[in-house]
Amino acid sequence: MSSPPTTPPVLAYPLGDALYLNITSSCTLACVFCPKIGDDDFTVGDFDLRLKGNPDVEAIWSAARAAGLAGRSEVVFTGFGEPTRRLEVVLELTRRLKAAGVGRVRLDTDGLASLREGRDVVPELQAAGLDAVSVSLNAADAATYARLCPSRYGEAAYSAVKDFIRSATARLGEVAASAVGVDGLSEPDCRAVAEGLGARFKWRPYGRIGRVPVPQSGVSRGADRAKP
Ligand code: SF4
Repeated sequence: MSSPPTTPPVLAYPLGDALYLNITSSCTLACVFCPKIGDDDFTVGDFDLRLKGNPDVEAIWSAARAAGLAGRSEVVFTGFGEPTRRLEVVLELTRRLKAAGVGRVRLDTDGLASLREGRDVVPELQAAGLDAVSVSLNAADAATYARLCPSRYGEAAYSAVKDFIRSATARLGEVAASAVGVDGLSEPDCRAVAEGLGARFKWRPYGRIGRVPVPQSGVSRGADRAKP
């Protein structure tokens, strides 16, 4: 008896005129507001972003090229996983995207790559050609961050995220820091931290994470998202 056909993993998906690259389902955080954590839900629009393993560079590159790079407003590393868990893949694909003429390459990140790697990785992202970064700040203090986005780093993760944002604002053209609007979180306090670090602040309504509809045309709703 033959096995049922398996659906190929979604490695590149368009939303509006942007293209999103899905390179891992592994995270460092276990955010309390994440639909992946709460509902085992990996969907964005019509796309199921669950990955059973880590695709190699060539598979992601082929998917990106098949989806089309010409005319894209931007190409974004995102998905229900932390792209910098695969830092070398992000760097290599960024170099290829820039060499192919993509105007804007953005990384959506938890901002913990430098803590994980034991060095400031922002200069490496800059050297690869990364244009923009969207960092999940998610709190105005370390205790709240550790409660909303628990990890093995505990409260130490928060200062590492802020250090990452500081380094990014010094080196990259465009840096955004976001917070998900869960009950009790102060938007003004989060904004003050983000703007104090030199980043543009984005307040993201709770409940829309990962569940943005695919637009019919034109504007990319996906651009509203940082990490899911
Ligand atoms: S919100 Fe993002 S960083 Fe947090 S668990 Fe979900 S995918 Fe990972």
